[in-house]
Amino acid sequence: MPYAWSEDTNFALWELEVLDRTCAVCGRMMYVCDHRYRRLHTLEGPVQLVCKLNHCPDPNCPGHARTKSPELEITIALPKWAIGWDVLCWIGQRRCARHWSISQIQSDLWDDYRIQLSADSIARYIRHYQVMLAARQQDPEALRQHYQGVDEIILSIDGLQPEKGHETLYVVRELTGKRVWFAVPLISATAAEVRRLIAQARAWAESLGKPVALWLSDRQDAFVTGIAAEFPGVPHRYCDNHFLRDVAKPVLEADSHAKVQMRKKVRSLRKIEQAVLKRQDAQASGRLVDDRCGATMTEAPQNSTASQVDPAGTVVLDYCVAVRGILNDDQGGPLHPPGLRMADALDEVRASIQRNLDAKKGDSPSSNSAVWLAASTAAARKCATNRHRSAITSKTSRKSPRPSSRKGRLVPTDRRSSRS
Ligand SMILES: [Zn+2]
Repeated sequence: MPYAWSEDTNFALWELEVLDRTCAVCGRMMYVCDHRYRRLHTLEGPVQLVCKLNHCPDPNCPGHARTKSPELEITIALPKWAIGWDVLCWIGQRRCARHWSISQIQSDLWDDYRIQLSADSIARYIRHYQVMLAARQQDPEALRQHYQGVDEIILSIDGLQPEKGHETLYVVRELTGKRVWFAVPLISATAAEVRRLIAQARAWAESLGKPVALWLSDRQDAFVTGIAAEFPGVPHRYCDNHFLRDVAKPVLEADSHAKVQMRKKVRSLRKIEQAVLKRQDAQASGRLVDDRCGATMTEAPQNSTASQVDPAGTVVLDYCVAVRGILNDDQGGPLHPPGLRMADALDEVRASIQRNLDAKKGDSPSSNSAVWLAASTAAARKCATNRHRSAITSKTSRKSPRPSSRKGRLVPTDRRSSRS
C-alpha cells in the first residue's frame, strides 16, 4: 500500500539528474523524456525526489524505448520504499544490535524524527535489513578475503534454542576465522536435514579452497553420521565447552559448597552497619546540641556530613558495601569458579583492613565514640530547657533504615544536619 502522507508535510526537494547521458547502444547524447516523483522519509526530514529520466532521441535506436534513471536514486532509497537507506540502517541497527522491539522502534522514530510507520512496515523493513546483513555476511568475496591468511579451517555445529518452544537454530561456525557461516532453523532435526547443512558447509569450504582440519560438536547422532558421510577422514571431536561442562560438574558443586561456607563465616554486615550509623547519628546530634548551647558555637560545622563527623565509621561502611558485593557475585563458569574468586576477594579485604590497622597502631582515634557519646549526653541534659523548640524528624537521604533510638532525639530545626 502506498504511504499516506499528511497534507501539511513540508518536503525538501531533491532533483536528481542522469550523470552519464551517453546512450548505451548508439552512443548519442540522451535527453530528458519524463520525470518520476517520489516521497520518502529520511532522518533529516521528508524528501520529495524529482528524478529526471533520460532516453535516446533516435526512435530507431533500441535505447529510445528504454529510460534511464538517475544513478544516485538507488543510493538514497530502493524502489517503492517510503524510507531512505539512513532510516533503514537506523531501524536495522536498533533491532539487530540493541534488540529493540518493533513498538519501541516505532515510538522512537516518531519521537525523534516524526517518522510514522506502521508495525507491519517496520517488520518488513527489518526483514529487508536482515536479508542484506546475511548476504553481506555470506558474500563469497568478503569471505575469501577474510580467510586469505588461513591454512586450514575448523568447523563446529550446534543447535541453539533462542526461545523455549521455538524451533532449534542450527548454527555452523568456523573457529579459525571466528565467524558464523550460516544458521538454519530446523523444526525436526532429522539426520537427512542435518546432513544437508553439513553438505552446505563442505561446499563453502571447497569454494574457499581450504582444507577442513577438524569438526567440533556435542556429538549428537545426526552430527556424527552426517559429518562422517560428508567429511570422510576428518576428525570429529567433542566441543571443549560441552566437554568441560560435563567434566566440571563436580568442581562447580564443590565450589558452590565452599561459597556457602564462606557466607556462613562472613555475616552480620547489617549489624555492623547499624552500629556505625547509630554512632554517627549520636555524634551528629551531639555537635548540634553543643552548638545550640553555645559550647562550640564558632567551630560547629553548619553542614557536617557523616564522613566529617565520623571518618572511621564511613570507612567501615565502605568496607561493608565492598564485602556485600563480593558475597553477592555469582558470575563465572567452570574455568573461573565464583567461590575461588570470592575467597581471593575476601583475602584482599582482610589484607586491606590489616594494613589500615597496622598504619593506625599507636594513634589514639580522634573521634572516639565513647567520648563523643558522653559529651553529647551531657550537652543534651544542659539543653533540656530548649526541648520545646526542637523538632524530631529529619528527612535525610540515607538508604539504611534508621535506628529506632532516633525517636526522642533533639534535632534543632534551624540547624538541621545535612547528610545526603
Ligand atoms: Zn541510442
